[in-house]
Amino acid sequence: MAEIKLDHIYKRFDGNVTAVTDFNLNISDEEFIVFVGPSGCGKSTTLRMIAGLEEITEGSLYIDENYVNDVSPKDRDIAMVFQNYALYPHMNVFDNMAFGLKLRKFKKAEIKERVENASRILGLDDYLNRKPKALSGGQRQRVALGRAIVRNPKVFLMDEPLSNLDAKLRVQMRSEIIKLHQRLKTTTIYVTHDQTEAMTMASRIVVMKDGFIQQIGAPRQVYLYPENMFVGGFIGSPSMNFLQGHLREGRFWFNDHISLKLPENRRNELKKYEGKDITLGIRPEDLHEEKALLDTLQESKAQVTIDIAELTGSETVLYTKIGDQEITAIVNPQSNIDQGDQLELGFDMNKVHFFDPETEQRIK
Ligand code: ATP
Repeated sequence: MAEIKLDHIYKRFDGNVTAVTDFNLNISDEEFIVFVGPSGCGKSTTLRMIAGLEEITEGSLYIDENYVNDVSPKDRDIAMVFQNYALYPHMNVFDNMAFGLKLRKFKKAEIKERVENASRILGLDDYLNRKPKALSGGQRQRVALGRAIVRNPKVFLMDEPLSNLDAKLRVQMRSEIIKLHQRLKTTTIYVTHDQTEAMTMASRIVVMKDGFIQQIGAPRQVYLYPENMFVGGFIGSPSMNFLQGHLREGRFWFNDHISLKLPENRRNELKKYEGKDITLGIRPEDLHEEKALLDTLQESKAQVTIDIAELTGSETVLYTKIGDQEITAIVNPQSNIDQGDQLELGFDMNKVHFFDPETEQRIK
């Protein structure tokens, strides 16, 4: 069992930097929570407060209903995995993994069993006698994970553990960590600035900006119902498109003369914005150029000229502009669209998001 409760947590550094403001979160046993946000948003500081490496300025932290603000890191039954692995260069893999257990005065036989068990899970059996410098980045990161696993802690804390690996290895280790979690079911908090990692790994995502929580939810929920423009733009790649315009007679008008018809069911919820400015958000995959789809998108199209067409393999990403508003669309690569082509883009108005231009909050 490991439940964690962060109750109105604040972190202020000397010189009046408030790194974390009023952070509230209840983490259930076995959850895989990801803190995600741009550099400097306070995710590492929050993780370090949970680890006990950083003092909590204000608020209460509970692990399994015990108040732990003043409990030292070694007594919190938490294991942390860092970005830089933090392996001891002069020790071989076995000793690196065994080190924490030796410090805690575990018996030799127990240490051996735990290290062997972890190395089997992580595929490190053949490397136990090697020093870290004779390992690849991925293998080193596995040793770092192994060192956390052998302790069988209540909670794993991981701070950007994959950011030193190349792209391919990162994807591979991502799924290894997910499998590890499915097997051990240890409550995990994972910090990353990479929204793809957050989307693919989390049971719940906590999106942060400037020390404030922006949204907490399952990846799908955060993707489909972003609470504000920041979340809409940060989660999803390529990013959500935003268009500034206004509502009139059941239509979204932008760039002077272009209008997109709202579906009947959305008109009611947007009634109080009639005649007012509003921001429309649409994901690149909800823009279409295929004829069959365009035919279904009556009165919600715009004529564009393609500035760049990027073939990524499984899809083509189109970059264009409507007036001075930049638009990105993802389309089928078989459409063979090229730079300079003129075409009609259809907006799937059932999928669009609306935000208040002043508060930048989602309109519900
Ligand atoms: P990154 O992804 O770059 O690690 P982060 O989201 O983890 O960013 P934090 O490292 O938690 O962000 O930092 C949050 C804010 O607190 C930043 O503005 C940072 O400059 C500030 N900060 C962090 N540590 C200290 C410190 N020891 N003293 C003063 N300010 C600090």
